[in-house]
Amino acid sequence: MLSKELTAFLTVADHIGPRFAASPGLFMSSFASLKKHWYWAGVLALGAAVAAVALAAPAKISRIELEREASLAAARLNALMLQEPETLSQAIGAPSGAQAFAGILAKAGYGDRALRYALYDHNGRLVYTGGVGALPLEKDLGAALATPAPEDAKVTLYERSDAAPTNFAALALPLAPGGDPRGTLVVYLDQTDQAKVLAGYFGWVTTGLLLLLGAGIAVLAVLGWMRGRESRQTKAQLRYLEQHDALTRLANRQAFSDSLNKAVARLHRDCASIAVLCLDIDNFNKINHAVDHSGGDQVLRDLGARIQAALREGDLVGRSGGDEFAVALVDIANLSEVMSFMNRLVEMLRRPLVVAGKELIVTVSAGAALAPADGEDAATLLRHAAIALTRAKRDGGQRMCFYEESMNKALQRRRMVEHELRLALGRGEFEVVYQPQFDLATERQCGSEALIRWHHPVHGKIAPAHFIAVAEDTGLIVPLGEWVLRRACNDAVKWPEPLFVSVNLSPAQFREGDVAALVAGVLEETGLAPQRLELEITENLLINDTEEVLATLDRLRHLGVNIAMDDFGTGYSSLSFLARFPFSKIKIDRQFVRNMTRDPAMRAIVKTVIALGKSLDVVITAEGVETEEQADMLREFGCPQVQGFLYGYPGPVDTSLMELSGNVTPIGVGRHTA
Ligand code: C2E
Ligand code: CA
Ligand code: CA
Repeated sequence: MLSKELTAFLTVADHIGPRFAASPGLFMSSFASLKKHWYWAGVLALGAAVAAVALAAPAKISRIELEREASLAAARLNALMLQEPETLSQAIGAPSGAQAFAGILAKAGYGDRALRYALYDHNGRLVYTGGVGALPLEKDLGAALATPAPEDAKVTLYERSDAAPTNFAALALPLAPGGDPRGTLVVYLDQTDQAKVLAGYFGWVTTGLLLLLGAGIAVLAVLGWMRGRESRQTKAQLRYLEQHDALTRLANRQAFSDSLNKAVARLHRDCASIAVLCLDIDNFNKINHAVDHSGGDQVLRDLGARIQAALREGDLVGRSGGDEFAVALVDIANLSEVMSFMNRLVEMLRRPLVVAGKELIVTVSAGAALAPADGEDAATLLRHAAIALTRAKRDGGQRMCFYEESMNKALQRRRMVEHELRLALGRGEFEVVYQPQFDLATERQCGSEALIRWHHPVHGKIAPAHFIAVAEDTGLIVPLGEWVLRRACNDAVKWPEPLFVSVNLSPAQFREGDVAALVAGVLEETGLAPQRLELEITENLLINDTEEVLATLDRLRHLGVNIAMDDFGTGYSSLSFLARFPFSKIKIDRQFVRNMTRDPAMRAIVKTVIALGKSLDVVITAEGVETEEQADMLREFGCPQVQGFLYGYPGPVDTSLMELSGNVTPIGVGRHTA
């Protein structure tokens, strides 16, 4: 039967953590970023330069325009005065005659724009001043312009923002009738209106220019962004191609090895193993021949997809070349999990593949190696799995073989455990560690589960998965279980209220001893309040001798202790047991929690069990919570309690700390502080 299970009709499957290729060096990347920054710095500098010109140029052009207008006025006045030398001489001759200048200004058309005019003699002394009242000049501009008397007309512009007139020009006109320099006439010409017109005109021009500039920069920015996006996409594509097999879209051998190495490095302490499988299609040559190459490609793609569908979350798959695939089953406790995977795959391969109108049944062979027993790096593990695969092929295909070494080691270990287990209790090689359980709503610790650890002087840490079954087979579980219970109650009585302790009970303890009497005795002896003790039993306990077991459970319940259903969903019992015994707690097995984020069916089961707990008034604890994503989902479903690496690893209790603080301190190695 077993060999039939081992026999595998297999089709084979894309997910693997992206492998980041070692980039061609820091230099290239910093050069690239420099290039990118230069582009943006260039665009910004150009933009700033154009904006500065757009803002400064109008003022400059207005000034030139006003100067031109003032010079024109000076030239006109000069010409008029030369046309009437008589009047000029008269005007210069006596201060009273200076009024005649008003006439000249009016004649030239500047009557109402001349703010004021001043006459200076050839020594620069003010002789006469007329027109509008005094202008608020900081210094006597006219005197400065008139000393010494200029040879040509001179123009000086004046501009202020605080009072009217805002703009005016001082025109210094030399007075030299008949070539004889007699003095200077300074005319202050109002240019406020002219300046206003120019400012209005250039305001529009500047706005237009700035808008154009903004649009230009926006276009450049969009172009730059598009170019950047294109190059990012290209890079991502390149990285994808570098790590994936083009045909099946699975990780290629290199990427698979990298992820496997990471997984091996993460292997949790003494808890688990990784199974590495090499899968190979039986008689792929014949298939290729029958359906030609494109058909063969389709077979490979389909097999890839089916392998992937048979994996659990976190497992790895890759195409290692030709018709070979590599799979890594991470975090497995025993070989039956490898069997389950193979069975799932075989089940999927029963469905024929339709290629080019033909129905094909594809079968595969597999070789398996285990980490850490058969190797602690990807290369060694893959090599050993390939050796096992060769044997599976040699034996006729459609089967799975384990790498010899691991089989030997597994057998050796079993014999060693059988032999040493008897002595270990007396030698004090066991320890009880505690893993915290948390109330999900308050994020506070509510209790801890007691988990046994075996520290072998030669073989190091031995996981419960390796010795609990042996202890059950040999009956040693009875004294071992008693020891754990006593130790756990002794420890828990020192914990702050209302923290509880959970202790696992094996079916053998029910069969071969009087559990109820033991529990009553230990409670009395240690003084632990019964409601602070929780006993975890599995569904399997309830398959045989149900009446007797139910009677014992009833006696335990009447002592006041709580009874929890452990690993719910993995055993063979049915929901009817829940109706026959009033459990105080149901613990959802970690395989459901692990898979629920990606598998809708698992999610539905978890959600339903939580709802069931509510309606039966039973506390639900989700086991194996490792990620925030899982915790969020459980919170959304209203799960009351959680346990898992996210909340704390199993660890020793720091009783001294608890006694001193008197506060709730995580029992076990908590990550959260309670
Ligand atoms: P269990 O009762 O289901 O205990 C929980 C197991 O899951 C523990 O393994 C714990 O280390 C592991 N675990 C907890 N959180 C996580 C997580 O987030 N991710 C993963 N991957 N694992 C997590 P451990 O200590 O190796 O124990 C294995 C099993 O051995 C226990 O499963 C229990 O069935 C049995 N066991 C342990 N101690 C005792 C004991 O004193 N008596 C009996 N009868 N059985 C025990
Ligand atoms: Ca348990
Ligand atoms: Ca469990």
